[in-house]
Order: sequence, then C-alpha cells, then structure tokens
Amino acid sequence: MKWFCEWLAAWPAGVLAAGLLLLCSASLQADEPSEPLIVSQDHAWPPFAFAGNGGEPRGLLVDLWQELAEELDRPVEFRLVDWPRTLELVRDGEADIHGGLIQSPEREQTLIFSDVLLPLRTFAFVRTGAPVARLDELADEPTGVVDGSFELEFMQREHPEQPLQIFDNNEQMVRAAVDGTIDVFVGDYPVAMYLLDRHGEAGMFHPLELLYEQPLRAAVAPGDEALLDEINEAIARLDDELLRQITQRWIHSDTIEVIPAWLTPTVIGAALLATLLYMALLLRQRRTLETRVRQRTTELEEERELFRTLTEHAAAGVFILQNDRFQTVNPALSRILGRPESWLLTQPFYEVIHPEQRDAITRRARDRIAGKEVPDHYEMKVITGEGETRWVDLTAGRVELQNGPASIGTMYDITDRRLLEDQLRASEAQYRQLVENIGDIIYTLTPDGILSYVSPQWTRVLGYAARDVTGTPIIDYVHRDDRGECGRFLQRTIRSENDGQEIEYRIRHHNGEWRWHVSSGAPIRDSNGRITGYVGVARDITDRRRMHDELQYQARFNAMLARLSSDFVTASTDLMDQRLDAALADIGRFFESDRCYLFELSPDGEHMDNTHEWCAPGVFSVMNQLRHVDLVKLPWWRTRMLEVFEHRTPVMIASVDDLPEEAAIERELFRRQGIRTLICVPILTGHQVTGFLGMDMLRPRTWREDQTELLLVLGNVISEALQRNHLEVQLRDLGITDPLTGLYNRRYLMERLREQIEAWRRHGDNFALVILDLDHFKALNDTHGHLAGDEVLRNFSDVLRREHRAFDIVARFGGEEFIVVLTHVDHEAATIAIERLLQATRELDIHFEGESLPFTVSAGLAWSKECDPAHLTPEVLIDLADERLYRAKEQGRDRLVAGDA
Ligand code: GH3
Ligand code: MG
Ligand code: MG
Repeated sequence: MKWFCEWLAAWPAGVLAAGLLLLCSASLQADEPSEPLIVSQDHAWPPFAFAGNGGEPRGLLVDLWQELAEELDRPVEFRLVDWPRTLELVRDGEADIHGGLIQSPEREQTLIFSDVLLPLRTFAFVRTGAPVARLDELADEPTGVVDGSFELEFMQREHPEQPLQIFDNNEQMVRAAVDGTIDVFVGDYPVAMYLLDRHGEAGMFHPLELLYEQPLRAAVAPGDEALLDEINEAIARLDDELLRQITQRWIHSDTIEVIPAWLTPTVIGAALLATLLYMALLLRQRRTLETRVRQRTTELEEERELFRTLTEHAAAGVFILQNDRFQTVNPALSRILGRPESWLLTQPFYEVIHPEQRDAITRRARDRIAGKEVPDHYEMKVITGEGETRWVDLTAGRVELQNGPASIGTMYDITDRRLLEDQLRASEAQYRQLVENIGDIIYTLTPDGILSYVSPQWTRVLGYAARDVTGTPIIDYVHRDDRGECGRFLQRTIRSENDGQEIEYRIRHHNGEWRWHVSSGAPIRDSNGRITGYVGVARDITDRRRMHDELQYQARFNAMLARLSSDFVTASTDLMDQRLDAALADIGRFFESDRCYLFELSPDGEHMDNTHEWCAPGVFSVMNQLRHVDLVKLPWWRTRMLEVFEHRTPVMIASVDDLPEEAAIERELFRRQGIRTLICVPILTGHQVTGFLGMDMLRPRTWREDQTELLLVLGNVISEALQRNHLEVQLRDLGITDPLTGLYNRRYLMERLREQIEAWRRHGDNFALVILDLDHFKALNDTHGHLAGDEVLRNFSDVLRREHRAFDIVARFGGEEFIVVLTHVDHEAATIAIERLLQATRELDIHFEGESLPFTVSAGLAWSKECDPAHLTPEVLIDLADERLYRAKEQGRDRLVAGDA
C-alpha cells in the first residue's frame, strides 16, 4: 500500500476530488442549496402518485420526478391534492410543475406540455360476467369517471349518450365499483388494476374495451417555457433502463411486454426472479458503496489513509490505468481477475481482456485517456489467472494526473448474473423450439384478451402473419355468435375456475372461411403469483365436427322417418289431414326450408291443387292462391309435370332467376311467392303419379344430391300413407254411403241422428231436421226415362253437398227423398238455409241427351225445441217433418213448411 499513499500524496486535492467524483458516479453533486421545484399531483392515483400511510408522496411519478430532479439539479417537493386541484395549483402559480397528465385541447388553454414521460392506456372496465362485448352495449349503465380527468373529457366527447357518475378520485371510484354501486367505469389501466387489486378480489372487473392510448406528459404554466425546456432536456437524458426499472417497480402487469409471456412460469419465473434479485443486490451494493464514499468525501481530504482502506475493503475492483498499465489496483480487483497485484501492475492491462474483445477494449481505453468520447459503462469479458472467462461490469472515467491523463474505474464480477441470463435465454430458446414444433396452435393473450404471441402453427393453420395479429384482440377473429361464450371461458380460466375444460368456437381464417377450433388454456402468473396473461392451445376440428354433424343429420333423418311412418300407420282417416300438416312441418324444418307443401294432380294432369302447406315462421302462405290451378296456363310447368308423370323424377329449380325465357310466366309466379329455389318429388298411388311433395326456399340455397334422395324417401312415405287412406275411405264409404249420389245412407243417418238427440238432451244443443222430396218425380221418370231421373238425383245431391257447410248430416233417405240435419241453429236460421237450397234447386239448369230437365223440391222442417225431450226419437222427429212435407205438397209443392218457432 505504500505506493498508493505516495501516489496519493503527490496529487493536488482538486484532482483527487475529480477522481472521487467519477468513482462515486454521476449522482454526486455540489451542495449548493437551491429552491425546490413544487410538483403537483393527485393524492389518490396509485400507482402513479398517492399519499403513503404517513402522508409521504409515493408512486411511479414520484420516483420518476426524483430521478428528473437529479437531472435538473434541483430538489423537488410534491403537493398531493384531489385531481381537479392539481391543475389549479399549476395554473395559479402555487406549483411549478404538473407531475404527469394527458394533453388535451381544453388543458392546452391553461398549460404547456412537456415531451412524453410514459405511455398510458385507458380502458372501460366492466364487472366480470356481464354479458357485454362493447361499451356501447351498456348505454343504460352509469359509468364511473373521475372529475376533471381526461377520461371525463374523452367520454363527454366520444360517448355523449353514456350516463356518467363522477367521482372525486380513482380510489373512490374503484371502491364504488367493488361495493357494487357501479358496474362499469373508465380508468387508466395501471391505476385501475392497482386499485382493484388492493380493494377487490382478483378478476372482479376486467378491461372491456381499450378507449385510447395517450402518453403522460409533465406540464407547466404558460410563461415557464425556460423551465419546460429544462424538463425536456432532463427527460431526454433519462436512462431507458432506469425508466424501465421504475415502471416495473409499480406496474407489474406490464411485465408481459418485456418477457415473452408464454414461458412456463415455474422454471423461467424462478430464473427470472433470481436474476432480478441479483441485479437488485448489485444495485444496492453499488448504492451502499456510493453512499459510503459520498459520506466520507469531506473527511477524506485529511484522511487519505481512509481512502486506501476503503478501496482495500471495497467489493468493487478499483483501478487507475495509464500508458497501457494498471497504475493502481485494489485487492478486490486482484480477486476478480484472479491475479496477484504484482502481476497486474507489471503486465500490459489488455492481457486480462478476453481475446475476442481485446482489441476493441484496448482501443476504447486509449481513446478515453486521449480525451475522446467513449462509453463509460459496459460489460466485458476477462480471462483470469486460472484461464477462466468471467464477465465484469466496468465503469471508467478520465482524470488528469500530475504525470498526464489517466483512466480511473471500477469493476464488478457479474459472471453469475450473466450465466443466469444465458440459461434463461437457452431455456427460452428451448421452449420456443418446443412451442414452434408441436402440431397445436399456441397463443398467449394479455388479461384483456389481446394476442401477445402466436406460434408458427397459427400462421400455418389460420393463414395470418404473426406480426399482423399480435396486438389485436383475439375476439375480432371469433364468430359473432361464439364471442360471448369465449369471453366467459377466458374470464373463468383467468380466475382459475376451469379445470381442463375446452371450448369449441368458429374462427375466421385468412381466406375468409369460418372453421371450428377447440381450445383450452391456463392463466400465466409472474413470480409474485400475479396473473399477467393467458396461454391457449388450439386445434382445427372442422373436419371432425363435419363428420359428427353428418352422423347427427343421418340420425335425425332416421328418427323423423320412423316418427312419420308410425304417425301415419296409427292415423285414422279423420286425422289424416292433421298428420299430413304435422309431417310437412317436420320435413320443412328438417330441411330448413321456408315452405313445404303437397299438391294433388288431376288424373289427366291438367290441374293441380295445393291441399296442404306448412310455412316457416314469418313466411307468407300461398295455398289459397294455388287451389285448382289450370296447368294449361302454365305450359312450362305442365311439361315438367308430364315428365314427372312419365319418369317419376324430382323437379329441381336451383335458381328461379335463371329459368329460361319459355318459363317467363312461371318465373313471375314464383317471384310473386318470393321463391328463389324449389324442389318437388312425386307422390304415387300404385304406379300412378297423383301429386307431389315440394319445398320452397326464399333465399338462395344449394341442394346436395343425397338431400334430394332423402326427400324422395319421404315422398314415398307420404305416398303410401295417402294410398292407404284412400283405400280406407273407399271401404268405409261403401257401408255408409249411397252409391248413386255418394251421400250418406239411411242407416248412417239414423245412427247419427240418435247421437244428435243424445247430445241435445245432455247439452241442449238445438237442431233442425228437414225432409226433402222431389216434386212429380214419377212423371219425370216416365217422360224422360230412368237414367234422366238418376241424373237429376245426382245433380240435386251436388247442390246439397255444395251447401254442405250449413248442414251437419246430408243423407239420401230413400228414392227421391233426402234428409238434412242442421245443428247449433235456431228455427229462423234453419228456415233461411232451406229456402236458399230451394232457390238453388230452381236455378239449376240440367240437360240430359239434349233435353232440359227443370225440377223443384218440397220440404218439411221439424225443430228439436218443439218436442218433449223425454219422448224424442228419430222416428218422432221424422214423422213430424214428414207431416209438414205432406202439407207442402198439398199447398202446391216447391215450398217449405216449417211449423211455428
Ligand atoms: P210427389 O210430387 O207427390 O212427390 O210425386 P212423385 O211422383 O215424386 O211421388 P211418387 O212417390 O209417386 O213417386 C216417386 C218416384 O220416384 C217413383 C220411383 O220410380 C222414383 N224413383 C225412386 N227411386 C228412384 C231412383 O233411384 N231412380 C229413379 N230414376 N227414379 C226413382
Ligand atoms: Mg216421394
Ligand atoms: Mg216425390
């Protein structure tokens, strides 16, 4: 140590002070007292600025201003007040600087703004579980916002309809949200996350929509431009690394942007934590050392020995370099470089530098001493006496010694830290390789659903480049109908409420196709257990789903077929129409058509008749326009029908618009019915086509071949049902109808009449019975022949049938006598109905073999109310009506005798 004392003694005090200044880093400064700058800031805007438990200013902006104070060479003092007051303080001259706010036209009227301090993102936050995807959907919800804030200005400008609830500060607002007073609020992301974390439970609220991204700036009052210039220079000088450290200290969630979020938290987290701890330790060591050096500076002028002791016991290696040789080294340097002091002092200094860097660093050291601008802080590799390569952190500066310029510096061994970093990088590379080579798509999201990483499979499968999708919300690619479910799934996973569940959803590929994907995922946590994102694994399952859908489709068809068949087998003829309607509904829904219908074709193929129809909800009915359609008027369609007759093949019109010119009438008809495409399959009775089953679509639609076949199968089911029904009707009618006229026979009439009398007794439903007898029929037979008589009977039966609506039972009682029964009528209504029938008969114009056959009819009416319920029988009633018929004949025929009401 003798050399050191001698050397030290040789130095003027000023040079020593300059050397120490360098040694103690740039922060050491002259102690001239200067006026503190007053910085105004919110007292409840964590993590940016807030009052600590003892009222002391804390937060990111507070730390940042401490650093800026050093750069400005002026102390700062904070005034923490309610937000609106922070602006007033600067405006009224009570504070020099506003510590951080967003620039806006309104604020520019009273403030001038600095360069950017920090970027800041602002979101609308909503209670987790609320089924909304955008702020606009919450038009009735009062939205929390802080008084005087930029958020308030923004909301009033961009969302003027949104009802607002104003709070004095963020803390109050977030408390109101946690208490349930409000369900949505607008806040800066770090502020809201910090406060939610403090006052609520994890995941209670989540960011719904990014409203804007605006940087924070400082501001001063107009007229303080000089101060503003100084502030801008100080901001420009701020070390990026330092800024990052301060930010990280307060905003944990932003870690995701710095470290790839997909890294498995356990392995990487531990390594990361160790690295950070080690770096923090180094920083503290250095700070402690610096503080100690600073404290001793004043004493040192007299206490040179103390300086020697200090370097001797310092953890950092200290050296002075001149003429390519160490002039001074301390024990720590000797330890770090693994070489005795004597070796270090006698060999060229560059012998300790790793050969890879030797030339560059030697040049740099020489340049520094020569007074050139060179970096004063960097990391480098050295070779120890044992031949080992180690990393050191070097800080060096230039000093003027008595014997010329020299370099003075400190050195720390950072090999362990570098090693950890290398390991980290290696394992990161390993994971990346893993992620990039497995078949599944891997992606990570920020807690608010923004894609932060996508694996190469994403690009391979979906077709989007990774750089185009990162930074965009994943929900933008998801099908509208699946967004709600996906959002809830993500929130559940982030709250760790999903154990290994999967979600299936449609996602838009780059080629525009919607494909089904399945995905599962897990939250990503940082080393403090805080959730910083979400990692998802997904797979395209469209083909699998198609197969599944196809099988389901087949199964549904088979079920429908079974249902229809059994319905028709068990259907009685009375229920046939009902069953047909139900079958059309079933078929129409299955094929997702708009109309499903049945047409009956006349045996000569000249007419068609729409007998049954089902319409999808909202689709208008056309059945009534399509009764008894004359096919002669639809020549093109008639040709199609003849083809159906002949070949029994379906008719398919893929696009009504593309029908040929010769189908112009049909095209117009279809258009009027709103039809874009239709398909028909024949209905057969035996081997005869008797109608068709058809479907209309009011929107363009393509038919698969197998669907036509399925429809043909259904057409067959209906054909068989109709055929069976037809036979049954024939069979039944044989027993109860009259072959000549087709009307019910006497036996059936008597049966029904007995039922009617029973119902009348029980419920008092009044009814009338009328006997009708053709006038002078014997004479007609005699004059024109029996066949003419038969023709007259048939024609009169048609009249009865046409008026059938009024009558419940119409029967041929025998010969030229008929009976009708009218229910739910009073005497007068029954009389009117029969008078109308007599008039219709008079107006008949029947010809037989060229001869006109006019005829009339007489009638006698009996009303149930005229009789005694206890003794009423069909015979009693018929006798009464017959008696009146006799009177009608007597009175001159062609009339009704109805008795008294
Ligand atoms: P009135 O006006 O008094 O009823 O005279 P009328 O000739 O109609 O009465 P009458 O009872 O004397 O004659 C009924 C005739 O109806 C006798 C019979 O030949 C004829 N008749 C009965 N059944 C049929 C039938 O099925 N076909 C034909 N053509 N005639 C029938
Ligand atoms: Mg008669
Ligand atoms: Mg007669």
